[in-house]
Amino acid sequence: LLVQNVSKQFFKNMKVLKDLSFQLEKGECVGIVGESGSGKSTLARVLLGLEPYQQGLITFNGNVIPPKKPTQLRQFRKKVQMIFQDSSNTLNPKLPIWKSVTEPLDNYKEVTPSFIQLKGLSKKNVAEKLLQSVGLEKQLAYRNPGSLSGGQKQRVNIARAISIEPELLICDEPTASLDVMLQVQILHLLKDLQKRSNMAILFISHDLRAVTFICQRVIVLKKGVMVDQFNIKDLYQKERHPYTKALIQAAQ
Ligand code: ATP
Ligand code: MG
Repeated sequence: LLVQNVSKQFFKNMKVLKDLSFQLEKGECVGIVGESGSGKSTLARVLLGLEPYQQGLITFNGNVIPPKKPTQLRQFRKKVQMIFQDSSNTLNPKLPIWKSVTEPLDNYKEVTPSFIQLKGLSKKNVAEKLLQSVGLEKQLAYRNPGSLSGGQKQRVNIARAISIEPELLICDEPTASLDVMLQVQILHLLKDLQKRSNMAILFISHDLRAVTFICQRVIVLKKGVMVDQFNIKDLYQKERHPYTKALIQAAQ
């Protein structure tokens, strides 16, 4: 994913993202931190091709985002999956979990996830395996989202997103609505998945601690401007941007 000098505004002369440039390599886990209103979710939506941008260029594997042709869009959706902050309404309340989890595999029949031996398995069995891969019990496959806890629902969202083995997973504050114990569990799960699958993760959060736990690199956004970018191992270098320093202090 290559982002070059991208600016975005909703209203004239009110830039929400200002001249952003960064790169995400295959298999890399990069964090985006910034306070509320700094443009994190807008950036996620722009990168997913859900929002237009006015200046600059975004490319994924060399193709311009948002893709124009339906075939390119389909290809892009297959490679880039997302998980959002609020896990409560992302699953169809009328469908049993197993149907929701296997939905991407239905849409992209050409994909066979390498971590599951699909041969001879029914769709329900595939769903069970996917749920187990994110630490859930397979019996959950037969329940409806309404009867699941927030943490369970977020795991189901993750299972669904990874079912087609995306190259990139964009997570917009995936743990924000969860209690601290569940936050830690989800972070461990994402870290594990990334190690296992070599998928790239763009992890958006206002919590620098969470970001330093799973990411190799972090980008700091302030009012739509990238004010800092560094490897996590250089976090405590002296010449950090004052805003980064404030974030580090807040995280201690
Ligand atoms: P939070 O941490 O609270 O989720 P954020 O960093 O994700 O914040 P955004 O949701 O991207 O911030 O919002 C960035 C700015 O863009 C805010 O000033 C917001 O009011 C504005 N904004 C977001 N979406 C729209 C929209 N659809 N129309 C107009 N302005 C918008
Ligand atoms: Mg947001």
